[in-house]
Amino acid sequence: MSPRQPTAIDASGAEIAAKVDAARHAGAVWRRRTVEERVKVLRALWKVLAARRLEIRAVVHEETGKPLVEVDLMEFGAAGLLVDWMTAAAPRVLGDKAANKPWSLFNKRAYERRVPRGVIGLITPWNMPFLIPFGDAFAAMLAGNAVLLKPSEWTTKTALWLEAAVAATSLVPTGLLSVVPGGGAAGEAVIDASDMTVFTGSMKTGRAVAVRAAGQLKPVILELGGKHPMIVLADASLERAAAAAVWASFANAGQVCVGVERVFVEGEVYDRFIELVRPRVAALRQRLDGKDADLGRLVFPPLLDRIQEQLEDARKKGARVIGGEVLDRENLLMAPALVLDARMDMRVMTEECFGPVLPIMKISRAEDAVALTNAGQEGLAASVWTTDLVRGEKLAAALEVGLVGVNEPSSHYAYGALPFGGVKKSGLGRRHGDEGLLAFTQAQSVVIHEWPDASSDPWWFPYDERKAGFLRKLMGLP
Ligand code: NAD
Repeated sequence: MSPRQPTAIDASGAEIAAKVDAARHAGAVWRRRTVEERVKVLRALWKVLAARRLEIRAVVHEETGKPLVEVDLMEFGAAGLLVDWMTAAAPRVLGDKAANKPWSLFNKRAYERRVPRGVIGLITPWNMPFLIPFGDAFAAMLAGNAVLLKPSEWTTKTALWLEAAVAATSLVPTGLLSVVPGGGAAGEAVIDASDMTVFTGSMKTGRAVAVRAAGQLKPVILELGGKHPMIVLADASLERAAAAAVWASFANAGQVCVGVERVFVEGEVYDRFIELVRPRVAALRQRLDGKDADLGRLVFPPLLDRIQEQLEDARKKGARVIGGEVLDRENLLMAPALVLDARMDMRVMTEECFGPVLPIMKISRAEDAVALTNAGQEGLAASVWTTDLVRGEKLAAALEVGLVGVNEPSSHYAYGALPFGGVKKSGLGRRHGDEGLLAFTQAQSVVIHEWPDASSDPWWFPYDERKAGFLRKLMGLP
């Protein structure tokens, strides 16, 4: 099949209704399992899926064209790291928690229970077709929910593989992870049928998802786009910074939400930095079959023309564009592009490219790059590059982003313990970390009166001044 065709048509109303029904029934059984039981079952589930890695690698490659090494490490390896953290943390995070009590309520017991939300709708993009749906579905199920997954219409086969592989294990109730294929209409149906939606995708669609869910008073988590600025200071280790810039902007052919989208370099080292970047870009091996390749094709056909327009805009405004040619339109293949002498009035510096484009701009001081970053609407990821770690961490703290690195581009997703998400228009809420797991539950606060069994509490009726005076003293009122 040509990469220019989506791999899904919208599921029919009857098909969606059947999936919703199956998910609700499975969820009702699953939520009765203890957290420890769920941990055990889901660890076993991951073991079976991991043993089928080569199968899913082929499916992901077919749908995205990404190098096989990237499927192994970024989609599967990262998923394994998330499984390890989530299953180790779940009993602590999701278990009952005794509440501190005022001593005047000493004869009662109070604790917080975390209750699953019910059915979680996941609406996911095409750039990480296994990792994103799997990681979020795993967390949702660990927290006791069923999942309705609406994958991108460009990567449906990967999601259907996951649904079938989970079902084939017979480890979880049938329908606990149900896939609803299709485009926007299927996404809307999933929002309507779910108790909470986790959406990963563009800002434009994220807004539509939030509006629809708000109309039904349902919560959403939004994981949206970014414009990662890499800020290179004059004292940085330029070798590491140059290698990082090339990797973090061209990995997955640039189709990574936290990938480097622009580099700001302090003037003294601008030329040297470019000298180090150019041969690294020239050495990238680009192949369609994913073997011995550093980068492959684009996944989403409209991206090709959008990126070409952004490059043309930069050229017209005086940037030096190296590479970026369309190599094979039918197969969505373009050469990696370097945009040198970039400026903030160029689209490549302010619009998400989400492709193999690395714009580099000279700045006089790192603080200018921080100000330029904070003036934008995005707030997903950023990084600061310097050998002065104290200064680096100070600059990092001044950046209005959810994810930040010092001499580190974009490994946050692999830390299950770190909340992952953006601020400003890059998102709402977090996946991963304690708060990411808790988000799939709601608190039920429980108070149990233990003794004495037969008498009323002293603040109940009838009120009288003698009792009230005693209670005022007990409550510390003057
Ligand atoms: P998109 O917004 O076009 O589509 C995302 C999903 O939404 C798809 O499954 C799509 O079918 C569905 N959809 C479309 N219209 C809908 C509607 N009206 N209601 C409900 N669902 C609808 O995004 P995309 O092109 O698939 O993905 C690329 C974007 O995702 C980039 O902006 C990238 O930065 C972002 N992204 C963010 C993260 C993150 O964690 N922050 C991770 C990966 C990708």
